[in-house]
Amino acid sequence: MIYIGCHLSVTNGYEAMGNQMVDFGGNTFAWFTRNPRGGKSKDVSDEDVAALQEVLKDNEFGTLVAHASYTMNLCSAKPETRANGLDMLKQDLQKMEKLPGQYYNFHPGSHTGQGAEVGIQQIADGLNEALWSDMHTTVLLETMAGKGSEVGRSFEELKKIIDLVQCNDKLGVCFDTCHTWDAGYDLVNNLDGVLEQFDKIIGLDRLKAVHFNDSKNDCGAGKDRHEKLGEGFIGMDAMRKIATHPAFQGLPFILETPNDDAGYIKEIATVNSWF
Ligand code: FE
Ligand code: FE
Ligand code: ZN
Repeated sequence: MIYIGCHLSVTNGYEAMGNQMVDFGGNTFAWFTRNPRGGKSKDVSDEDVAALQEVLKDNEFGTLVAHASYTMNLCSAKPETRANGLDMLKQDLQKMEKLPGQYYNFHPGSHTGQGAEVGIQQIADGLNEALWSDMHTTVLLETMAGKGSEVGRSFEELKKIIDLVQCNDKLGVCFDTCHTWDAGYDLVNNLDGVLEQFDKIIGLDRLKAVHFNDSKNDCGAGKDRHEKLGEGFIGMDAMRKIATHPAFQGLPFILETPNDDAGYIKEIATVNSWF
């Protein structure tokens, strides 16, 4: 089975997102914990959280996948950017405690010239400061396309971060299909092989969520430009094989495709028709 949804705007609060996803035909969703390009996060009321929880329960939603701001970079060469990123992470994780048991996904970071090894250590340092042993959120490292100086372009890099974090029982991985494809993992011709590699290097028990995107570019392009399902280089046949692969069953799938509401409703229906 599958939990499917897309990114929603948090402007009208939490309950509104739950109701909107019910209308869209989905049963999970993602939202930005603050403006994706930076800025403050709005407060959330206990009433709104309780109302959302009711919607989630009534409609048998899967785990939700919050997304951190793109500006949060735990491994920038600039110490102020790192400190700012750590502040955002700490605040976001405190806020997530109001809605226990969900996922919080973030881009590991861009090392901005320091090299991947330094980046990996700084990301782990940040996580070691922000995570605590009895928190109620699982923090997901997103697989990255490898654009610029992005860290997390390979399963090995993600595994290194995980190994350096003390509370790593609170860590998992969000598998972005566009990003892994762009990073050079051939999801079209070698899906089983890619997942075997993931299992060998990271372990499938860490696989918690999927960002379900086609790609505007070919495998290994290192670009990170999402495309609508079936309209990119991955193609609908491979997208269906991914969604129905045993390794992904029961995980929340989040669409980050370039769509308007009608487009998301259509893609959610398409994915649901595979089950
Ligand atoms: Fe992302
Ligand atoms: Fe993504
Ligand atoms: Zn992307």
